[in-house]
Amino acid sequence: MTSRTAADRIAGTVRADIRALSAYPVPPAAGGIKLDAMECPYELPDAVREDIARAVHDTALNRYPAGDTTELAHDVRKAFGIPAESGVLFGNGSDELIHLIVQACCEPGDTVLSPWPSFVYFDMAARFDHARFVGVPLTADLQLDLPAMLQAIAQHRPKVVFLALPNNPTGGLWPDEAVQAIIDTAPGLVVLDEAYQPFADHTWMTRLPTLPHAVILRTVSKIGLAGLRFGYLSGHPDWIAQFDKVRPPYNLNVLTQAALRVVLRHKSVLDQQAAQLRADREPLARALADLPDVTVFPSAGNFILARFSGEFDGNTVHLALKTRKILVKNVSSAHPLLANCLRISIGTPAENTALLSALQDILRSH
Ligand SMILES: *Cc1c(COP(=O)(O)O)cnc(C)c1O
Repeated sequence: MTSRTAADRIAGTVRADIRALSAYPVPPAAGGIKLDAMECPYELPDAVREDIARAVHDTALNRYPAGDTTELAHDVRKAFGIPAESGVLFGNGSDELIHLIVQACCEPGDTVLSPWPSFVYFDMAARFDHARFVGVPLTADLQLDLPAMLQAIAQHRPKVVFLALPNNPTGGLWPDEAVQAIIDTAPGLVVLDEAYQPFADHTWMTRLPTLPHAVILRTVSKIGLAGLRFGYLSGHPDWIAQFDKVRPPYNLNVLTQAALRVVLRHKSVLDQQAAQLRADREPLARALADLPDVTVFPSAGNFILARFSGEFDGNTVHLALKTRKILVKNVSSAHPLLANCLRISIGTPAENTALLSALQDILRSH
């Protein structure tokens, strides 16, 4: 008998694990203060936007993107300090590059491993690409558990290890010696995801040529260009050449390329915005920690993870903030180690002040 409804046919066609999923939630943020997605709260200056408008005007939309990205690569290498001897690959956001790595490395059932909780997309991309994901729990105070990592690496022999440096959603930056020990032990590739590097004042990039089994993943999303969808991967040219084979041919659209090249000519604007967010981080962390029953975890990113205890659980505070049109990320139920935790992006000084007074109000009213 032929199926009559889409649902019938889907049940027999779409993978069971995909049917069981719900789509990645992106909540609407109409009119409020948006501190839930580690976006930069600052927009580009008008002069830069006008330069972008001109570049877009001069871009031919009827042609596929050029295969030769030498000029863009030159600009990106210069702007972000990629060593001359390293290769570079561009992605439609670094999310796409995560997929390319797993697709190129993992046979069905091979293991992808990461400390956990970390960036949820490591887990999702691994599973979508038929790999097995192993998350190695952080310690109770949300630090890297190096002995557990080394033990899990020995046990599972992962093809790929992802390390977010600093880690999302906890904010911690794993010590160099621990990262080096993981690189020295892992039997496959180690991906150092430096999405938050501009806020950490720390990078592995300068050491990349001495690390033949590690690659560095970066994005411009957290430094003011989340809408552009651009990420880059750098590492030994032989690794890059393998990942390039699974890249969709025209993954980087012409508008992204045109706008990015303009913005990189004004890179100091991005650097100043990042410096501002870095400077605002400690005062915000201290003010949050001064609230009753709030624990703040040390962060090297453009966000702060805070745990609410006593009478106020994470869900209550999240909802109360939402009622006041302040959107933060509720990670309370994402992992037992994150119970009652909210992840708060650093906003403009005015937004940070509004957040703090809303929290004072909420916590006092209980
Ligand atoms: C946000 C984030 C990314 C995703 O970046 P896109 O370039 O926007 O896809 C990658 N890694 C980590 C750890 C992140 O937090």
